[in-house]
Amino acid sequence: MINFLIFLFLQLLALIVFLQSCTNTSKFAAVTKTPEQAFYALEDFKSVKKADTHVHLNTSDTPYISQAREDNVRLLDIVDDRPFGVPMKKQEEIAIQQINAFPGRVVYATTFSVDNWNKNDWQDEAIASIKNSLGNGAIAVKVWKNIGMQLKDKNGKFVMIDNPRFDPILNYLAENQVPLIAHLGEPRECWLPLDQMVLNKGYYSQHPEYHMYLHPEYPSYESQVKARDNMLEKHPDLRFIGAHLASLEWSLDELSKRLDRFPNMAADLARMSDLYVHSKKDWKKTRDFFIKYQDRLLYATDVQVAATKDPLAMKKQAHDSRIRYWTFFTTDEQMNEPEVGEFQGLKLPREVVDKIYQLNAEKWFPAIVTGKKLTALTN
Ligand SMILES: [Zn+2]
Repeated sequence: MINFLIFLFLQLLALIVFLQSCTNTSKFAAVTKTPEQAFYALEDFKSVKKADTHVHLNTSDTPYISQAREDNVRLLDIVDDRPFGVPMKKQEEIAIQQINAFPGRVVYATTFSVDNWNKNDWQDEAIASIKNSLGNGAIAVKVWKNIGMQLKDKNGKFVMIDNPRFDPILNYLAENQVPLIAHLGEPRECWLPLDQMVLNKGYYSQHPEYHMYLHPEYPSYESQVKARDNMLEKHPDLRFIGAHLASLEWSLDELSKRLDRFPNMAADLARMSDLYVHSKKDWKKTRDFFIKYQDRLLYATDVQVAATKDPLAMKKQAHDSRIRYWTFFTTDEQMNEPEVGEFQGLKLPREVVDKIYQLNAEKWFPAIVTGKKLTALTN
């Protein structure tokens, strides 16, 4: 009898606990997933497929790519028209060599020369060169800051990206659904005096020739952004990926305005230090930005890969830096960077992490999935 009473009492207790939990349904309804399901952990790094949509493979060496394979990362190698380092043609040779050596692991974006800009047949030459690269396996085209900061017309005026002479090329890309990646202008700090810089003081104190604050004869930061916006206005069907947070690294508000205004625009995240600064200034706003624009942001590092005599050290460095980024996006740990100081990880939901690391790359660069040659486009 006593046993039965104890049994009855326990049943009643269970019922009370159950009813209490039911009165708090809103709280329970909000939690549809356990924390383990809603967020990734540090240990998930390897199992999650990733695509780094902005690297520069400046060598035919392979340890960096082997580490990418170990870290479950695909690489979009970007060729550009820079006046220093490995020349454009050589970058493209390396890219073709690497995509053939690592099919499915490495894909590449090509570019076109502006050396013959002032010649009448320059546009035909540029389109022919793009077609040729697409035939070799390129999945996107890149334009670089030489447009806006180096190239000049017959009258000695800087040529900006909204110059009508680019239109036939951009129309060709839009018609054939070839994505355009653009690194136009420099970080806004480049136009500020050294004492107002947060992230690039060291670099520009060593390179006054690139420090635009000292060169008022060059187009301003605002005119670089304006020319890019004008170009997007003219080419609404162009699939556009703005490298380095679309050159608006200093302001999430300004970047949001562009993402709202240009639905065919995405931004790559290869300005991680600026993201750390945003998180430090306003963690919630930064996290909300990622959640709001989760379909438009692409994981990217802008790593310059050179030949190395110490492949193990290179592999470790590549892995460690990927882990830092993963920590920032997936956890809310306190982190520290020399130029930034203390800041907090964003702990983004799994769905958002999957998008910025992989699904958006597949959406914005569809050929990244197969590495398939876009040969149909070359005819
Ligand atoms: Zn780059």
